[in-house]
Amino acid sequence: MTSTRIEGGTVVIDGATVTDAPIHVDDGQIASAAPPDGPGEVIDASGCVVTAGLINAHHHLLQSAFRTLPGTRFAVMSDWLAQMSAAYGRLRVDPELGAAAARVGLAESLLCGVTTVADHHLTWPDGIDPVELAGATIESAAGVGARLVFVRGTARDDPATAAESIAAIHDTYLPGSHGGISDDGKLQLAVGPSGVHADGPETFAALREVAMSLGLRRRTQANEQVDVAIAADRYGRRPLELLDEWGWLEPGVTVAHLCEITDGEIDMLAARGVTATHAPGCDVPMGWGIAPVASLLRAGVPVGMGTSGGGSNDGGHLLADARLAMQVSGLVGDPVSGGTLLGMCTEGSAQGLGRTDIGHLRPGAAADLCIWDCDDVFDAGVADRIEGLLWASPGRRPRDVMVAGRWVVRDGHLVSDDSRAAAHELTALIDSRSG
Ligand SMILES: [Zn+2]
Repeated sequence: MTSTRIEGGTVVIDGATVTDAPIHVDDGQIASAAPPDGPGEVIDASGCVVTAGLINAHHHLLQSAFRTLPGTRFAVMSDWLAQMSAAYGRLRVDPELGAAAARVGLAESLLCGVTTVADHHLTWPDGIDPVELAGATIESAAGVGARLVFVRGTARDDPATAAESIAAIHDTYLPGSHGGISDDGKLQLAVGPSGVHADGPETFAALREVAMSLGLRRRTQANEQVDVAIAADRYGRRPLELLDEWGWLEPGVTVAHLCEITDGEIDMLAARGVTATHAPGCDVPMGWGIAPVASLLRAGVPVGMGTSGGGSNDGGHLLADARLAMQVSGLVGDPVSGGTLLGMCTEGSAQGLGRTDIGHLRPGAAADLCIWDCDDVFDAGVADRIEGLLWASPGRRPRDVMVAGRWVVRDGHLVSDDSRAAAHELTALIDSRSG
């Protein structure tokens, strides 16, 4: 693999270190120096900020086939769920649709600087082999060149069937792996009940057991309005109390959304060693509220960032959502800076996935990085380049993106796949099934 020196840019190594020194990539990793025979290629990053590749800790890639679906905008959650499930039935969710939607969502992610996507897959139709359905997304990720965390989700699934399918996906795609992560770190498997509003204690117990036996990370969603209301109706409890009772507030668990959360609950998450994912690009348009990120961080809860999926947030543009998070943060507590949000999009998300190899650019890290061109009118006059990454140039996309030492985006274009072909493939499939 070619070794690379990237020079002339402002490099955000991690939340604590920014340098103007060149950065070296060798054998798919960040190196402390160029190899003895010099770098194979030298990239001029003058006028640019270089960051670790962003990590989208909460996506629903399948929903890329269901963007701006009528009846799903500003809908109450019960109507939204009904509209989405009717649409899944109409278009027939199967491996072909899963693969095409994932290819689109992952290509979009790379073009937006997101090098790792955690795909919380919640739709498992009867009669469709779950290993094949998961495999469709896994193979799309390999084809597009993105890192994938496949989260085998559930939403009212039979607990035993769900647990068996997790073991089967693991045996097929990650045999002999440790912690559910492939040797090259390109594929990770995790488990994720949708939440206490959809799944009962049996599902949480079955998924906890299989996760423990295979060493998998666990993810779930909690404390949006419907979740709180259903937990109160069905159990007379708060969602986080139930998760605690069901063995799901433990290290290794990440909870997404957390819009309606009390100070006491924040302290409980911190005490239990749970991590969080903030997804305001979903929470705000769905009317769920804004998670109090500053309070979570202050309590010691690591917080990552996610976009959620095309059913609620029609973009997989994590940096844009980080900008939104920054803009609305002061409405629910202390404001959160651009630099802090950049840290949430990188190391914050990585912590929730149990990964130390991604989310930063220290020597030994995977060479997942973005070069952001800050040399045009959009950034002229910016006093602080790191804050400017989020404050200036809404919708900013990276010039170049690397995953594991391989360029996937050059000069704003996907080079690891044909993004327009991916778009046309999904459109043609949707058209053929909409008949
Ligand atoms: Zn979600």
